Amino acid sequence: MHKPGSEEEEYFARENAEKMRKLAAEQRAHLAESEKAKLRQLHHKRCPSCGMELHDVTYRNVKIERCFACNGTFLSSGEFEKLAKAEPKGVMSDVLRLFEHKHTP
Ligand SMILES: [Zn+2]
Repeated sequence: MHKPGSEEEEYFARENAEKMRKLAAEQRAHLAESEKAKLRQLHHKRCPSCGMELHDVTYRNVKIERCFACNGTFLSSGEFEKLAKAEPKGVMSDVLRLFEHKHTP
């Protein structure tokens, strides 16, 4: 029996993250600059779940993006890392480890 957060679970999550990272890099490489700009404009400060406006809330020096329409809470690049660093043995650090990669995509 495997408890949540087992080595096996971590292994598969890491494998999957690596596949997703490669796929995203490929997709990004094939998009034209104009298409990237259009997507940025369309999605900037919009909830990735429901599309409503995101609001910045800064707490303990961490910028959190909150959608008050659906209560989704999001972290930009670098903010998750700050939370993980604050608690090296916490769940955020465990989750962050799933996405660590040693080599470039
Ligand atoms: Zn939302």
